[in-house]
Amino acid sequence: MTLKSLLSIIFAGLLSALYVCLRIYRTPHQKKLTEYQMTRLLALAEKSLESLDVPVGALLIYHDEIIGEGCNTVLRESDAGGHAEINALSDAIERLGMEQFLSLDRTSLYLVTTFEPCLMCTGAFLNYNIKQIYFLKAKDFIYLAKGGARFIRYYFRRGKMTHNGEQDSLFERHPHYPQRKIRTGAPE
Ligand SMILES: [Zn+2]
Repeated sequence: MTLKSLLSIIFAGLLSALYVCLRIYRTPHQKKLTEYQMTRLLALAEKSLESLDVPVGALLIYHDEIIGEGCNTVLRESDAGGHAEINALSDAIERLGMEQFLSLDRTSLYLVTTFEPCLMCTGAFLNYNIKQIYFLKAKDFIYLAKGGARFIRYYFRRGKMTHNGEQDSLFERHPHYPQRKIRTGAPE
């Protein structure tokens, strides 16, 4: 067994233990949805069933108003990133425009989904600074443990190539890059 494999197993074990602790000790979070919001959320998940996509629906809510909604469209659209949560984010960005979306007060912005988000969607929340996430059904422990192990495997196996110049020259052609005005979550 290599050192990397051993570290991966140890880290996955620590992650699993942390998860169990959080499951045991955390206070369940409740978010009161209006009847319309709950009906809409479930209708979105139902829509995914029509294409035999995993039935998940998501709403992005700002000051109690729906600003984005999405259902799982991975099979329907042959879209690898077509999870309900990411579709809800994209819908909000399309409705509001990127600048306005990024300037929304994050304390009044939250996402509700029918099923606990995956690692890909969690990454999108981090990238777009969505701080409040609520879900109806949690993922099981095995799924999360596998996800944690995959992340560790990715981290140790990723490879940095010796080609800095190409990407730098692309950045330099971007009008905002020298001033580092490319904001987190904005198109790059
Ligand atoms: Zn997802």
